[in-house]
Amino acid sequence: MTRSVADIIAGLGTGIYRDGRWHTASSGDTFTVENPATGETIATLSDGGPDDASAAVAAAAANQRDWAAVPTRTRSEILRRAYELVLERADELAAVMTAEMGKPLAEARGEVGYAAEFFRWFAEEAVRVRGDARRSPDGKSRFFVTSEPVGPSILITPWNFPLAMVSRKIGPAIAAGCTMVYKPAELTPLTSLYVVDLLAEAGLPDGVLSVVCTTSPGPVVSTWIDSGQARKLSFTGSTPVGKVLLEQCARGVLRTSMELGGNAPFIVCADADIDTAVDAAMVAKTRNMGQACTAANRMLVHCSRIDEFSAALTERMSALTVGDGAAEGTDIGPLVEAKALDKVESLVGDAVARGAKVLCGGERIEGAGHFYPPTVLTDVDPAAELMSTEVFGPVAAIVPFDTDDEAVAAANDTEFGLVAYVMTESADRGFSIAERLESGMVGFNTGLVSNPAAPFGGVKQSGLGREGGLTGIDEFLETKYVAMPVR
Ligand code: NAP
Repeated sequence: MTRSVADIIAGLGTGIYRDGRWHTASSGDTFTVENPATGETIATLSDGGPDDASAAVAAAAANQRDWAAVPTRTRSEILRRAYELVLERADELAAVMTAEMGKPLAEARGEVGYAAEFFRWFAEEAVRVRGDARRSPDGKSRFFVTSEPVGPSILITPWNFPLAMVSRKIGPAIAAGCTMVYKPAELTPLTSLYVVDLLAEAGLPDGVLSVVCTTSPGPVVSTWIDSGQARKLSFTGSTPVGKVLLEQCARGVLRTSMELGGNAPFIVCADADIDTAVDAAMVAKTRNMGQACTAANRMLVHCSRIDEFSAALTERMSALTVGDGAAEGTDIGPLVEAKALDKVESLVGDAVARGAKVLCGGERIEGAGHFYPPTVLTDVDPAAELMSTEVFGPVAAIVPFDTDDEAVAAANDTEFGLVAYVMTESADRGFSIAERLESGMVGFNTGLVSNPAAPFGGVKQSGLGREGGLTGIDEFLETKYVAMPVR
């Protein structure tokens, strides 16, 4: 990397992008972006409002027809070029992500690779959208079934995976031929600004993608939803905000894709291989400092293995290095903001007040930045708040169980259903438990399920629809059926 991260950030756009150009907010307002490891301000951006949102969605509507007419091979090649550019710029993208969000550089580089794959995967999918032609069962009609882009799409992303969450939406939207209006998270807009310039370099035509960064997400997004010009909302974020947006989308009957919160159970069966289980737990618990929708939130461990598992996990968690993600060798960076640190502290405090034992960590790290140490808790009361709330911190809460049925019942005892993990040496037992778990995804002897070629998404209040995989592009396609009589 030849440029410093400060120089890279200084070269990014204003925060409002439309018709292939950066603009300032019509109100003239600005907001700042902070590095969570140091508390320093690293950028000042335009703070968009409803006027900027109206102009953005008007651009998306005006360009939809022309964009849909662009051959799929051309759209595919734009995505392929974007994939290559993301990999070429991996170090710069990782440095920006670490600066605005805190994750260690090694993890940020991992996210760059994962995010780039969505562009490659959807470059391949763009040219493979299939249709259907056949006779009606009574032989009197011909059926022609094709797919069309759903139309101008609203994309909203959270702060925890600033690159992957947006490439997972922009990839299929470009492949399907949808124009886009996009609102990144307020805490982490810089990675998105980088991606906008990169997509323009990859050949994305002006007018296809507009961006509004803002500190007023409600007014900006409701301007889009109520515009009558957007046809689709693809949201990744918390369940409470997702519910508000679903209600708003009902007003205009917009198509929705909802990737919402989780409360993943991590089941360690009596016959689990403890090394495998601990490796998986470390990935599922510490990735992104535990700030992932897929984070193992509740570790349900068979009572015969709980001492062994707790000791091995504590040893691994205690050995992690906490610090600024920009420093090589850091395993655990800061939490994203002061509020997040307060929440983790309060959840641990509640569990301890209810009798949990702290095997390591357990107290915030004082000083600049929002640091919380890797923490292992045992004897956690099932009624503790962290059993029903996303912890979003590096805190493993361990609860014993006696029978597989009991583990499955405890795992399903939540309104969430994104992902679950099961550790066992028996394929039969693993599949049987996976079949009974109420979740969209199951990690069987692994702590990582995310893969662009696989369908990512949840059931219950964890969401609607799937991103990635063979059906990911369908979220941005509408079915068109033409009937013709046989004469
Ligand atoms: P969040 O508070 O729901 O915010 C997500 C996005 O929605 C942000 O861009 C936010 O803008 C915006 N937003 C907030 N209020 C809004 C409103 N009234 N109208 C329109 N947009 C609004 O979630 P978060 O704290 O950023 O992210 C963490 C959550 O996301 C967790 O629950 C996590 O499990 C979930 N998540 C799910 C997945 C998945 O694939 N299922 C993946 C990652 C994260 P601001 O940034 O300005 O607040």
